[in-house]
Amino acid sequence: MVQTISAFDRIGEENAFAVLARATALAQQGKDIINLGIGQPDFQTPAHIVEAAIKALRDGHHGYTPANGLLATREAVARRTLTTTGVEVSPEEIMIMPGGKPTMFAAILMFGEAGAQILYPDPGFPIYRSMIEFTGAEPVPVPIREENGFAFSADETLSLITPQTRLLILNSPANPTGGVTPRAEIEKLVKGLDDHPHVAILSDEIYDVMTYDGEAHTSLLQFPEIRDRLIVLNGWSKTWAMTGWRMGWSIWPNSGRGQGLYDKVRKLAVNCWSCVNAPSQFAGIAAIDGPQDEVARMMAAFDRRRTLVVDGLNALPGVSCITPKGAFYAFPNIAGTGWQAKKLASSLLEDAGVALIGGPDFGVLGEGYIRLSYANSEENIERALQRMRSFLEG
Ligand code: PLP
Repeated sequence: MVQTISAFDRIGEENAFAVLARATALAQQGKDIINLGIGQPDFQTPAHIVEAAIKALRDGHHGYTPANGLLATREAVARRTLTTTGVEVSPEEIMIMPGGKPTMFAAILMFGEAGAQILYPDPGFPIYRSMIEFTGAEPVPVPIREENGFAFSADETLSLITPQTRLLILNSPANPTGGVTPRAEIEKLVKGLDDHPHVAILSDEIYDVMTYDGEAHTSLLQFPEIRDRLIVLNGWSKTWAMTGWRMGWSIWPNSGRGQGLYDKVRKLAVNCWSCVNAPSQFAGIAAIDGPQDEVARMMAAFDRRRTLVVDGLNALPGVSCITPKGAFYAFPNIAGTGWQAKKLASSLLEDAGVALIGGPDFGVLGEGYIRLSYANSEENIERALQRMRSFLEG
């Protein structure tokens, strides 16, 4: 047998993709499956964005692009960042990436190695921990608690920092909980980080505009005191229903303590994916600069479904669900059902035809919870809740 490096024995996965594959296989066998598993909008990419990509191809944009992205795309991201955060960012700090995940990959690879510690949210997006383990660094979970509205706690986060901490990963609005951390808590965290100048921050803000009830998103970019050690992950996947396009961006420090980071990630791109394809980048510009009415319509639909899901879940025996403030996930507490979360998720898929994800797929603190993505029609959500009721009462 050929021998690979041990890092590959530590790399993990995102179980949502396995659930999607199983749900698809069951559907192909003729079973009626309602998919509340995968985290992707059930909307098509708006037509004007698709047209921009087609036009780019027709106009002959078939070749390599710069490793850090087309200047026009980076300028569009700078405009969008100013609109959403009020913060001016230079195109020289922006990387266009093939999706949101590659920023995670690059940042964790840049700071993780044996002996280093990286703080990440638990429950949280599973790739954080997987990549930390891949690098040989020690993953240090920051508990995300239901009693805290699934916001992170500044005090608890700061208390976990040691001289070995290299990187702190934050995510608000959050997957899998839908939690949004209030501005006051973020201010407290940033203030506390003053005492830990050796810690870099990766803020995953991919759901930035996906908030409800007028809840404002606070970007870590709004704190100039940490700008030179802050990496912000964002992208097109969720906001414009573009998951399959593989289009993301990140903002990197390019001065002070963060001098050189931008160039490092640019070199990583050269070594790995060279560049992001041109038509997608033209589509990305159209997404940012074009009409946002379809985004608003999608968010209005998510908001209606959110109410439906939360009310429906709270009416199920043994289930309670706090109202998520962002993203398109509900993270109900299922402890009262007596089921283990992963067992419940797989039984619901196999026996009731409802695909969702067990909380432990997002970290050890996910036990006692399941994640439902409400990226599905109101009709299907109602049918799924009905099936869950019959199953739990069964
Ligand atoms: N970050 C979070 C919190 C996510 O939930 C996701 C996708 O589910 C990503 C990043 C990755 O996004 P992309 O599909 O653009 O790689």
